[in-house]
Amino acid sequence: MTPGSAATAPSFAADTAIDDVDLAALADRLGTPLHAYSSSAIRQRIGGLQAALSGLDATICYAVKANPNLAILQLMANAGVGADIVSAGEMRRSLHAGMSAERIVFSGVGKTADEIAGALSVGIHRFNVESHDELLTLQRLAGAQGVTARAAVRINPDVDAHTHAKISTGKSENKFGVSIDEARHWFAERSLLPHVQLDGLHVHIGSQILALEPFRLALQRVAAFRRELEQAGHPVNSIDVGGGLGVCYRAGEDHPVAAADYVAAIREALAGYRGRLLLEPGRYLVAEAGVLLTRVIRVKPGIARQFLVVDAAMNDLQRPSLYDAWHDIVPVSGEPRTPTTYDIVGPVCESGDTFARNRVMPECMAGDLLLIKATGAYGASMASTYNSRPLAPEVLLNQGRYAVVRRRQHFEEMIAGEQPAHHWETT
Ligand SMILES: *Cc1c(COP(=O)(O)O)cnc(C)c1O
Repeated sequence: MTPGSAATAPSFAADTAIDDVDLAALADRLGTPLHAYSSSAIRQRIGGLQAALSGLDATICYAVKANPNLAILQLMANAGVGADIVSAGEMRRSLHAGMSAERIVFSGVGKTADEIAGALSVGIHRFNVESHDELLTLQRLAGAQGVTARAAVRINPDVDAHTHAKISTGKSENKFGVSIDEARHWFAERSLLPHVQLDGLHVHIGSQILALEPFRLALQRVAAFRRELEQAGHPVNSIDVGGGLGVCYRAGEDHPVAAADYVAAIREALAGYRGRLLLEPGRYLVAEAGVLLTRVIRVKPGIARQFLVVDAAMNDLQRPSLYDAWHDIVPVSGEPRTPTTYDIVGPVCESGDTFARNRVMPECMAGDLLLIKATGAYGASMASTYNSRPLAPEVLLNQGRYAVVRRRQHFEEMIAGEQPAHHWETT
């Protein structure tokens, strides 16, 4: 770019600071790629949802898989939020971060006997049971420990969440939950399972849902079933409405449902219900609070297009390659530069390692710092070391200060556990 063109070139929206922490200085100090999360933004989301829930007997159980960093879990625990877990590892993280077992619920189709026994022995709040086999296993293991397990049946309401197929979970062809017909049988045979207190309903229809209607439909089905069960003499003491609230990945295009409207829809659909309400938001609490800082390695002119090669890759943030997900990408410096169209790609040896195609950006050069936005959920949590790239560090930001909450992985840590085939054994 010539000096003369700079004066007339438009400036692009830039984010120079988040939670009052200067991003360029942070990247200089800690290197890139780097995941950063605004704790103020997370607390704001929690507070907004809690305010909307006021007056209800409600517990927010944060879906740990969205971002399982211990510091995030600690922040949740300090705000009175519990956990929705899907593995023994997530349970250990939650307990380790100081969450009380009384605020942990356990979801997932593949809970193993070991995981169920472990969760029973620490006394987690409730199992969201997804199959009859799991129900029988729960009865057997609770009996062996001489305890009674609180359980909810996960209903598959056969509702289309109008989201990406890979994150849709409430259609009858999905592996999750059971039909209302099947759930009816479970309740009818409740007395045969003395170690399971089956008195809850659970529903979770998918993720990144941007409309109220799918939630309404699912909740109406659950509410009707609740009334039917109570008329048949089966009390329902807990309704878990799952997660799925969408967030804004693309400014001006994605219009998320407001927490107040979401909770109003829950209040309306469950009118007359007096038991406990559980919510399992994941993405909604953390996605928009997070960014992935990355530096341009080089600009590579191609035959058909220009490539902006950055130092973050699909191993740091899988969503674009996995779901074709859009993330807004902005420069950290707001310097005016000529608009230029790029494919923004990482260094990994796959064409799928692409963050954006045909994206108009201010003209970039090697060394420029960019922000990939709304990466706080399903970013670091889905990261891998593919191409032997060490896991990027994670930093919590808070009102002008930062704390490293996971340091950059060392090479030695990445290969820990691997060894040459010295010890050959037979089975
Ligand atoms: C993934 C998941 C959630 C959270 O989903 P979000 O879209 O991140 O809110 C909640 N409940 C269950 C059972 C899940 O599997």
